[in-house]
Amino acid sequence: MALLADGVSRLLIDGKLTSGGAGGFATVNPATEEVLGEAANADTADMDRAIGAARRAFDETGWSTNTELRVRCVRQLRDAMREHVEELRDLTIADVGAPRMLTAGAQLEGPINDLSFAADTAENYEWTQDLGLASPMGIPTRRSVVREAVGVVGAITPWNFPHQINLAKLGPALAAGNTVVLKPAPDTPWVAAVLGELIAEHTDIPPGVVNIVTSTDHALGAMLAKDPRVDLVSFTGSTATGRSVMADAAATIKKVFLELGGKSAFLVLDDADLAAACSVAGFSVCLHAGQGCAITTRLVVPRARYDEAVAIAAGTMGSIKPGDPSKPGTICGPVISARQRDRVQSYLDLAITEGGEFACGGGRPADQPAGFFIEPTVISGLTNEARVAREEIFGPVLTVIPHDGDDDAVRIANDSPYGLSGTVYGADPERAAGVAARLRAGTVNVNGGVWYSADMPFGGYKQSGNGREMGIAGFEEYLEIKAIATAAN
Ligand code: NAD
Repeated sequence: MALLADGVSRLLIDGKLTSGGAGGFATVNPATEEVLGEAANADTADMDRAIGAARRAFDETGWSTNTELRVRCVRQLRDAMREHVEELRDLTIADVGAPRMLTAGAQLEGPINDLSFAADTAENYEWTQDLGLASPMGIPTRRSVVREAVGVVGAITPWNFPHQINLAKLGPALAAGNTVVLKPAPDTPWVAAVLGELIAEHTDIPPGVVNIVTSTDHALGAMLAKDPRVDLVSFTGSTATGRSVMADAAATIKKVFLELGGKSAFLVLDDADLAAACSVAGFSVCLHAGQGCAITTRLVVPRARYDEAVAIAAGTMGSIKPGDPSKPGTICGPVISARQRDRVQSYLDLAITEGGEFACGGGRPADQPAGFFIEPTVISGLTNEARVAREEIFGPVLTVIPHDGDDDAVRIANDSPYGLSGTVYGADPERAAGVAARLRAGTVNVNGGVWYSADMPFGGYKQSGNGREMGIAGFEEYLEIKAIATAAN
């Protein structure tokens, strides 16, 4: 049967697909502003039931100790998503405004495939490590270290790469033996709702193990952070909200895992191929209209070649026309909402107030009367002190900043409250690697290398978060460590 066949989405609570206590809310296609259908709007009572169900499923069933069942269920979810991948693709384009070409990678198929890594890791993991016999304090003791699930995970996610972020939490959390309450962003409720439908109808995941609670009420996320029945909050979103989640979690000392914002730098060294580097930098900022936390939005170039660099970046970005994400050739679709479009526009206005200039773009495209589109924009004439160079804009906007050599380039890259990502381009690979090593960022690309992969950890330094998603490190975020000492005589 088709997913969301009646155009209405439901919550998943305790194994049942149910309507929301607060009724429904419209799901809007950001490329057309058309209403796609209705999403279930949960209230606090729904969230309370979801947390209760997750708690019971963890405490009263064998889920956390039955690795074989968990591995099977995670693979079933992967297979169900693969079976429905074309429907999911259309739905993702409509709900998220994600360009079709990105659904072959991080917007859909990548994260579905990455579920294999979570299942394989659980299957092969060394759950118990034998440290052997020793006599600490003179007492003969057999020692082992056991890794086990943390418990109930509250997963809170944003709208920009919703499948990727939902699954990068759900996959390892479930494979590791946790139960989960997922609170997705209200901007992309359908992506989360289809996950609930597939779990309920196509997997053996027991009732209560996964609960999916869509809502326009952000306070439901705060409930997860505060509730003593939740053991860990895994949050992806803005740094401001991350701060609030951390504060709310403090009362119960629960584990908090945060993937937050970024303002990453793309460093072009003076021996680099300037044309290639600046074109790549411009192109990457247009992907999904710049709505990626790890996109490098500060292009830092040799001062002597500043004007040339601005012209190359503007040539690339000026030629990329934002448009219909359902078309195969589109790389820059809309931003998610009118609110987000107005926020990006306010930063473009600020750039002018701060003394910057637009080398291309600077507003809304005249040929797109409907939809939340922004022109790819290159800002020149500002230093790293400008607010548009320091704050996350989350649109197709690149600020070009001059540097005076490698040390200065590193200084500028690291002069940020964030530390999520970075790129270095240079002709001498050793020199470029040396510069990359000095970046205070969780992921670094040298000369076009790709760090996005199921077995590579992803996360930020400084105010870009703490903890790591994906890779073995991402799996272990969802585990506790128990040291067991048994007297040997
Ligand atoms: P957001 O912080 O506004 O919201 C994220 C989620 O938190 C949503 O589900 C929202 O409902 C919920 N929420 C809001 N207030 C809350 C509160 N007080 N307590 C608990 N939950 C609350 O972020 P957004 O606008 O949806 O997404 C964009 C942001 O996400 C950007 O800053 C981007 O950099 C960041 N992001 C980070 C990563 C990463 O891995 N580092 C990945 C993608 C997006």
